[in-house]
Amino acid sequence: MAKVTVKNLNKYFDNGVHAVKDVTFTAEDKEFIVLVGPSGCGKTTILRMIAGLEEVSSGEIYIGNVLVNNVPPKERDIAMVFQNYALYPHMTVFDNMAFALKMRHIPKEDIKRIVYDAAKLLGIESLLKRKPGQLSGGQRQRVAVGRAIVRNPKVFLFDEPLSNLDAKLRVAMRAEIVKLHHTIGNTMVYVTHDQVEAMTMADRIVVMKDGVIQQIDTPLNIYNNPANMFVAGFIGSPAINMTKGKLIRKESDLYFDSEDYQLKLTPRQAEVLQNYANKDIIMGIRPEDIYDSRFDAMAESPQKFITKVDFVEPLGNEYHVVLTTANNEYTARFDPKDLPKMGQDLSVTFDMAKAHFFDPESEVNLY
Ligand code: ATP
Repeated sequence: MAKVTVKNLNKYFDNGVHAVKDVTFTAEDKEFIVLVGPSGCGKTTILRMIAGLEEVSSGEIYIGNVLVNNVPPKERDIAMVFQNYALYPHMTVFDNMAFALKMRHIPKEDIKRIVYDAAKLLGIESLLKRKPGQLSGGQRQRVAVGRAIVRNPKVFLFDEPLSNLDAKLRVAMRAEIVKLHHTIGNTMVYVTHDQVEAMTMADRIVVMKDGVIQQIDTPLNIYNNPANMFVAGFIGSPAINMTKGKLIRKESDLYFDSEDYQLKLTPRQAEVLQNYANKDIIMGIRPEDIYDSRFDAMAESPQKFITKVDFVEPLGNEYHVVLTTANNEYTARFDPKDLPKMGQDLSVTFDMAKAHFFDPESEVNLY
């Protein structure tokens, strides 16, 4: 069993920064957990505490069932892949990968076999005689992963391993790391500020802000049921559209009134949000839940309203369209058919069943 458990973890740096605040989560055995959040939210510090590179201020870290707070890094049976790869520049790829095994006095023939097997898995057999300076960024990245694999650790820790790669290579390496996880099946804790990486790689995501966990769940659950406005805004691209407004009652129905339009809530939303009648509320609608009411399933909706097309961004298979109303701006994601032109008026509808509602003060997701 190689689960990683972090319990009530805190980190205070000497300068008084409280970087990690009472953080608790478990990466189950063989699970791929991604810690994600904006720069400075404490994710690297958590990873470094798990690795034993940073002292814990308070709380507990378990690897398997062993409390490792006072266990030195090299005895924790983990391997860490860093953002800058941390390869030894004067050593060949083979020697970089073999280094940890040599330190453990593993027989030479075994080292050769282990390194070749790992190199094969990563498609870098032909590079073993080169030095890091003679490799591309992507190849260096593979070597850094290879160096971690040969140690066959219980747990892999990744600290933004793809952030120095260009966009195309990043996508390719993303897939390779996921495949690697399927093949070798170790527990992985992966840190990134890139929500796309988190969404595409994780079994479960831990979303962080200012040292505090905001939500832990599967990528899909986080996308569909964000715990609060921060998570809703951080996960998803283009970002969810937020609108300030009020809930008003008309006969037996509740409507969201933005000043620019009034949209009827579904019966279920009206039931859950009945205590917010006549109160301020924030509505979130994702770009793909906005429809051009000339077409689509929403064409017959009575809930159309007029917007102005401010900007059209063609991406080939889809279009991002910025729409404005008197007081608000929305980014919509449209299929590439009969596109509106910049400056024209456009009637749109929102798929209200997909709308989220947030408390304006606590920012908690109410529906
Ligand atoms: P990034 O994505 O930029 O790496 P992060 O989420 O990994 O950010 P951390 O590196 O964990 O964030 O930093 C968390 C907070 O702790 C930040 O406010 C940072 O300035 C602070 N911090 C990190 N290391 C130290 C240190 N050695 N001494 C003092 N403060 C530190």
